[in-house]
Amino acid sequence: MSDTTIFDKIINKEIPADIIYEDDLALAFKDINPQAPTHFLVIPKTPIATMNDVNEENAHLVGHLYVVAAKIAAELGFADDGYRAVMNCNEHGGQTVYHIHLHVLAGKPFGWPPY
Ligand code: IMP
Repeated sequence: MSDTTIFDKIINKEIPADIIYEDDLALAFKDINPQAPTHFLVIPKTPIATMNDVNEENAHLVGHLYVVAAKIAAELGFADDGYRAVMNCNEHGGQTVYHIHLHVLAGKPFGWPPY
Protein backbone atom coordinates (compact mmCIF):
# COMPACT_ATOMS: atom_id res chain seq x y z
CA MET A 1 0.00 0.00 0.00
CA SER A 2 1.58 3.29 -1.11
CA ASP A 3 2.06 6.10 1.41
CA THR A 4 1.07 8.75 -1.09
CA THR A 5 -2.09 8.87 -3.15
CA ILE A 6 -3.73 11.02 -5.74
CA PHE A 7 -5.35 12.92 -2.87
CA ASP A 8 -1.92 14.22 -1.78
CA LYS A 9 -1.57 15.72 -5.24
CA ILE A 10 -4.98 17.38 -4.86
CA ILE A 11 -4.01 18.75 -1.41
CA ASN A 12 -0.76 20.10 -2.85
CA LYS A 13 -2.60 21.53 -5.90
CA GLU A 14 -0.42 19.44 -8.21
CA ILE A 15 -3.50 18.22 -10.04
CA PRO A 16 -6.81 20.04 -10.45
CA ALA A 17 -9.88 19.32 -8.40
CA ASP A 18 -13.19 21.07 -7.93
CA ILE A 19 -12.46 22.23 -4.39
CA ILE A 20 -15.49 23.44 -2.47
CA TYR A 21 -13.99 23.92 1.00
CA GLU A 22 -10.56 24.18 2.57
CA ASP A 23 -9.18 24.92 6.02
CA ASP A 24 -6.00 24.07 7.90
CA LEU A 25 -7.06 20.49 8.56
CA ALA A 26 -9.33 19.41 5.74
CA LEU A 27 -10.22 19.74 2.11
CA ALA A 28 -13.51 19.03 0.34
CA PHE A 29 -13.88 18.56 -3.40
CA LYS A 30 -16.38 17.12 -5.85
CA ASP A 31 -16.00 13.44 -6.65
CA ILE A 32 -14.76 12.93 -10.20
CA ASN A 33 -17.20 10.04 -10.69
CA PRO A 34 -20.35 11.17 -8.87
CA GLN A 35 -22.74 8.51 -7.60
CA ALA A 36 -25.52 10.98 -6.77
CA PRO A 37 -26.68 14.40 -7.98
CA THR A 38 -24.28 15.86 -5.40
CA HIS A 39 -21.22 13.84 -4.38
CA PHE A 40 -18.23 15.36 -2.68
CA LEU A 41 -15.36 14.03 -0.59
CA VAL A 42 -14.00 15.45 2.64
CA ILE A 43 -10.42 14.47 3.40
CA PRO A 44 -7.89 15.27 6.12
CA LYS A 45 -4.81 17.11 4.90
CA THR A 46 -2.75 14.70 6.99
CA PRO A 47 -2.94 11.31 5.32
CA ILE A 48 -4.54 8.44 7.21
CA ALA A 49 -4.60 5.33 5.03
CA THR A 50 -7.76 3.57 6.16
CA MET A 51 -10.39 3.65 8.87
CA ASN A 52 -8.31 0.93 10.56
CA ASP A 53 -5.76 3.67 11.27
CA VAL A 54 -8.20 5.91 13.14
CA ASN A 55 -7.19 6.21 16.79
CA GLU A 56 -7.36 8.52 19.80
CA GLU A 57 -4.50 10.65 18.43
CA ASN A 58 -6.17 11.46 15.10
CA ALA A 59 -9.79 11.32 16.28
CA HIS A 60 -10.05 15.13 16.21
CA LEU A 61 -9.19 15.08 12.51
CA VAL A 62 -11.80 12.44 11.74
CA GLY A 63 -14.40 14.31 13.77
CA HIS A 64 -13.50 17.44 11.86
CA LEU A 65 -14.36 15.71 8.59
CA TYR A 66 -17.92 15.28 9.86
CA VAL A 67 -18.09 18.90 11.01
CA VAL A 68 -17.00 20.05 7.54
CA ALA A 69 -19.37 17.63 5.80
CA ALA A 70 -22.35 18.83 7.84
CA LYS A 71 -21.45 22.47 7.26
CA ILE A 72 -21.20 22.04 3.49
CA ALA A 73 -24.34 19.91 3.31
CA ALA A 74 -26.27 22.59 5.21
CA GLU A 75 -24.87 25.35 2.99
CA LEU A 76 -25.95 23.40 -0.08
CA GLY A 77 -29.46 23.04 1.36
CA PHE A 78 -29.45 19.32 2.15
CA ALA A 79 -29.82 19.45 5.94
CA ASP A 80 -33.58 18.96 6.06
CA ASP A 81 -34.03 16.35 3.32
CA GLY A 82 -30.86 14.60 4.45
CA TYR A 83 -27.91 12.99 2.80
CA ARG A 84 -25.54 10.08 3.22
CA ALA A 85 -21.99 10.23 4.61
CA VAL A 86 -19.91 7.09 4.29
CA MET A 87 -16.29 6.02 4.65
CA ASN A 88 -15.25 2.86 2.84
CA CYS A 89 -12.57 0.65 4.41
CA ASN A 90 -10.33 -1.74 2.48
CA GLU A 91 -11.45 -4.15 -0.21
CA HIS A 92 -14.79 -5.29 1.13
CA GLY A 93 -15.69 -1.70 1.97
CA GLY A 94 -14.98 -0.68 -1.61
CA GLN A 95 -12.01 1.55 -0.79
CA THR A 96 -9.86 2.44 -3.79
CA VAL A 97 -7.90 5.47 -2.55
CA TYR A 98 -5.90 4.79 0.61
CA HIS A 99 -6.22 8.23 2.18
CA ILE A 100 -9.39 8.30 4.25
CA HIS A 101 -12.26 10.31 2.84
CA LEU A 102 -15.82 10.89 3.81
CA HIS A 103 -18.13 10.50 0.84
CA VAL A 104 -21.10 12.86 1.08
CA LEU A 105 -23.93 11.97 -1.29
CA ALA A 106 -27.07 14.04 -1.61
CA GLY A 107 -29.87 15.16 -3.88
CA LYS A 108 -31.94 11.96 -3.93
CA PRO A 109 -33.25 9.36 -1.47
CA PHE A 110 -30.91 6.42 -0.89
CA GLY A 111 -31.86 2.84 -0.14
CA TRP A 112 -30.72 0.68 2.73
CA PRO A 113 -29.01 -1.78 2.89
CA PRO A 114 -26.47 -0.39 0.42
CA TYR A 115 -26.40 -3.17 -2.16
P1 IMP B 1 -13.25 4.94 -2.42
O1 IMP B 1 -13.61 3.93 -3.46
O2 IMP B 1 -14.16 4.94 -1.22
O3 IMP B 1 -11.79 4.85 -2.03
O4 IMP B 1 -13.49 6.35 -3.08
C1 IMP B 1 -12.53 7.00 -3.88
C2 IMP B 1 -13.27 8.08 -4.60
O5 IMP B 1 -12.34 9.01 -5.09
C3 IMP B 1 -14.10 7.57 -5.79
O6 IMP B 1 -15.45 7.92 -5.60
C4 IMP B 1 -13.48 8.28 -6.97
O7 IMP B 1 -14.41 8.64 -7.95
C5 IMP B 1 -12.82 9.48 -6.32
N1 IMP B 1 -11.69 10.04 -7.02
C6 IMP B 1 -10.60 9.37 -7.47
N2 IMP B 1 -9.74 10.24 -8.05
C7 IMP B 1 -10.31 11.46 -7.95
C8 IMP B 1 -9.90 12.78 -8.38
O8 IMP B 1 -8.82 12.98 -8.96
N3 IMP B 1 -10.76 13.79 -8.11
C9 IMP B 1 -11.95 13.59 -7.48
N4 IMP B 1 -12.35 12.39 -7.07
C10 IMP B 1 -11.55 11.34 -7.30
